[in-house]
Amino acid sequence: MSATEIPRFPSVGFANEAEFVAYRREVQTRLDARYLHEAALVSADDSFAVPGTCALCLRRTLFACDTRGWERKPDGRPVPAWSESLACDCAERLSNRARAVVHFAQAVAGLSGWSRLLLFGPPHASHVRLAVLAGTTTALAGFAPGQPLRLDAPDGAFHLAVAVECLHRVPPLSAAFAEFRRVLAPGGSLLFTAPFRVHAARSLSREGLAPALLREAAHELGWDVLDWLRAAGFAQAAAHGYWSAELGYLGPFNMMFHASR
Ligand SMILES: [Zn+2]
Repeated sequence: MSATEIPRFPSVGFANEAEFVAYRREVQTRLDARYLHEAALVSADDSFAVPGTCALCLRRTLFACDTRGWERKPDGRPVPAWSESLACDCAERLSNRARAVVHFAQAVAGLSGWSRLLLFGPPHASHVRLAVLAGTTTALAGFAPGQPLRLDAPDGAFHLAVAVECLHRVPPLSAAFAEFRRVLAPGGSLLFTAPFRVHAARSLSREGLAPALLREAAHELGWDVLDWLRAAGFAQAAAHGYWSAELGYLGPFNMMFHASR
């Protein structure tokens, strides 16, 4: 596929919380309309489908939502878990988030047939498609809770590192960012998603806790995560808020983090 065939990734980049707050103020009416659009799509059935276009398959499809795992309001209405739903009907049945990671990697982070790709963290639905698009792929899954992250790779080994929904379990995260920067080639970049508190200036870190007490997450990320990336030596770091009804990227404040060295 040539670069011209990749649809534009529908996002707005924020370098810090102030830019995000200003954006929200400016487009609040549009954000309210998006919420109403999403609410009108939700059905109380076990599953429903939303028509749209898959940015990876480049064709019209029905994005499938299985509501059985969703939380319910007291009146029984489901609370949409949009980011993990909206599966394409392609072989990999990629969800909203999985498609967005691959789409962003291609359209913004420059993933292409000559890229040396690092996939960090446990296997994710996006990994197969990312590896198909890359030149070479290295998967590094393991990290020890409470231990500084050490990536088993030489300096400058990769053009792109991708970490989907796992870095919040990697303390200390600021040191981990420096380690990712070390293994990236000049011009390379780190792309990640993680649970993000969009209204929090500061991350909540539980780094001091014993590994046994860390349970779910070592960090609940806030906007200072972008400062940590810059402090780790990345020249540019931004949170990209993305949304598209047509491409099946629904949900409030989906964020893709991208840092370039
Ligand atoms: Zn698809």
